[in-house]
Amino acid sequence: MTKVKSSILGYPRIGGGREWKKALEAYWSGKINESELYSRLAEVRLASLKLQQEKGIDLIPVNDFTLYDHMLDTAAMFGLVPQRFSGYKGGVVPLDIYYAMARGAEGATACEMTKWFNTNYHYIVPELNGAEPQLVENKPLLAYREAKKQLDIEGKPVLVGLFTFLKLSKGYKTAETDAWIDKLLPLYEQVLLQLQQEGVQWVQIDEPVLVTTLSEEDLTRVERIYKQLGAAVPGINILLQTYFESVDAYSRIVQLPVAGIGLDFVHGGKQTLHSLEKEGFPQDKVLGVGLIDGRGIWRADLSAKLGVLERVFKVVAKEKVLIQSSSSLLHVPVSTSYEEKLEPVLKDALAFADEKLDEITLLAKAASEGTDAIRAELEQNGQALAALQTSAARSNKTVQAAAIQLKQQPAARRESFAERRTAQRERWKLPLLPTTTIGSFPQSPEVRQARAKWRKAEWSDAQYRDFVRQEISRWIRIQEEIGLDVLVHGEFERTDMVEFFGEKLDGFAFTQNGWVQSYGSRCVKPPVIYGDVAYTSAMTVDETVYAQSLTDRPVKGMLTGPVTILNWSFVRDDLSRELVTYQISLALSQEVQALEQAGIGMIQVDEPALREGLPLKERDHAEYLNWAVDAFRSSTSNVDATTQIHTHMCYCEFNDMVGSIRDLDADVISIETSRSHGELIHSFEEHTYDKGIGLGVYDIHSPRVPSATEMVSMIHRALRVLDPELFWINPDCGLKTRGSEETIAALRNMVQAAGESRESL
Ligand code: GLN
Ligand code: ZN
Repeated sequence: MTKVKSSILGYPRIGGGREWKKALEAYWSGKINESELYSRLAEVRLASLKLQQEKGIDLIPVNDFTLYDHMLDTAAMFGLVPQRFSGYKGGVVPLDIYYAMARGAEGATACEMTKWFNTNYHYIVPELNGAEPQLVENKPLLAYREAKKQLDIEGKPVLVGLFTFLKLSKGYKTAETDAWIDKLLPLYEQVLLQLQQEGVQWVQIDEPVLVTTLSEEDLTRVERIYKQLGAAVPGINILLQTYFESVDAYSRIVQLPVAGIGLDFVHGGKQTLHSLEKEGFPQDKVLGVGLIDGRGIWRADLSAKLGVLERVFKVVAKEKVLIQSSSSLLHVPVSTSYEEKLEPVLKDALAFADEKLDEITLLAKAASEGTDAIRAELEQNGQALAALQTSAARSNKTVQAAAIQLKQQPAARRESFAERRTAQRERWKLPLLPTTTIGSFPQSPEVRQARAKWRKAEWSDAQYRDFVRQEISRWIRIQEEIGLDVLVHGEFERTDMVEFFGEKLDGFAFTQNGWVQSYGSRCVKPPVIYGDVAYTSAMTVDETVYAQSLTDRPVKGMLTGPVTILNWSFVRDDLSRELVTYQISLALSQEVQALEQAGIGMIQVDEPALREGLPLKERDHAEYLNWAVDAFRSSTSNVDATTQIHTHMCYCEFNDMVGSIRDLDADVISIETSRSHGELIHSFEEHTYDKGIGLGVYDIHSPRVPSATEMVSMIHRALRVLDPELFWINPDCGLKTRGSEETIAALRNMVQAAGESRESL
């Protein structure tokens, strides 16, 4: 019998009870010191390793854990600290500087943060800017030693690969790419040499960039890097790991001189299998078969997975196969065992990280000992999946048919933007450079406590509603007093912009503990779209109309767009993402109509996650954008010319999206800008934009209150490339994570900045 081995690419960092998050935040707020932080984190880390050991995972990843983010770790490992963090004098990066890079500090803005491929995880963007990198700390080695010493685990250190690291970094010109490879190669060599000396057998080098569309030049670079690394550390087995899609240059990648190649057999799995069967696989290499979805929460269809394995074994010898997750399990919650309230049919069809460990070891067992060894589990698996598929939740014929119809008829507003603009000017009579906010105001401890009481039924619906109304009214006064032009109700009734809608629509379920890391210590608990999505009753009308009744200024209604609801949820996998989105659009368009009928004439439909869903391969972009944009329009088009549709986006890379953003045909769009260090403004030099637009004039991720002068200069820069008649002034994003005082102070400065800018026009 050949024993087929199992592995995963990474395990969630946050801990079953989000101990990781709590420890980080306790440290930031000064409640615990550095050593207490380390010991708390070690507990979380070792518990995860122990669990993998107990479950029988053969090759356990180490160094997948972090104090904040793995890209930041890699930068820190090479001493790549931007000069503005002037406290850094070389050597191991002190913890407070590490966190300052992530979160900003007095006098030094945080490093940019952006999405990790097409996930909702955000990493810190390394800044190279002519630095001289050095190996200041071999973090993978420390992680390896710890696992060995504490648990006798022969760990597999995980590193971000050189090419991916460089591609995701900024602060260098394309022409300097090779020079940077030359600078970094010796450092990677050192890291690996030290690991080799320590006796490490396998290292996992993550190169997810290899699944994107690569130029010939870049492919040659990848070959150069791995030829050199392979030659420099012959005594260590490099598993070159790709994920999130298939690799286009399959035949060249599998020929790289490394000991193993990890491929994704889930996302882009058809293509991966096709390449494997068509092009074969080098006999001397190990193949990491990413078979269990590292990003989805559904139980795998084990019979189907065994079918894939059988095909793999026709090409690759069993002893050369590693059964693994398709990506790090960082993207899924820790365990379904915490869920006590889900309907059994649903719960039975779910698999979070821990359950995926079981799936992986089961598959490895079946692959080693034959399918009969897991007969009972197979049967149970099939039944659980079938039960959900035939449940009432997936049988709403009306919605299913309507979604198909929406997909077939492109939606558009009745009037052109020019006509709407005239009608809206007359109705709203706003000043030039109107000021507004993105929607949410601080979710103070009182707001959170109130919601907790209501959820625990300590408060009645009426009590909670009164409380929310008081907050709305308090903030309407504050906004009027600050002098904002377009007000919002503040979203106090919402924990989360997707969850709130999901709770009111059919087809969604909510976990109690299904947290995943979004950025830093921030975790999100994505809803689960498991059935057909349907509108049941008005979702936002009550609070919005109440807010409007308190003021003469316009109050913007606030909805989350269909694409964002999709991209920030865990989505059923029996229906195309496109059709699920149209089901959501349908429900949202009903809400838009309800708001309009209730007299709300400005409605913002947020699509911060539009770009997130962009496929990794360029050739698939157009198709996605086409339906995504159309789904947005399906929810926003059926309104009067005087009704002003707003939308909002975060971390928008405008350059490759400009066409689609125009096609959304929103009357006003607000985009996060300040954390991209002005790069966004720059891109308007090349692309014209001729609808209402607000570029965020201050960063809301940091508690720092920016001065009016700073904001004026931001506005002036923007007005060099954008039409002042169409320009809006707003912060980067919602303010729910901020404190009240800093919010009020910053908005005052913003209104002052708008005033000064108006005068200078
Ligand atoms: N309206 C939302 C808010 O203000 C938008 C949040 C977002 O873009 N992520 O909170
Ligand atoms: Zn935003």
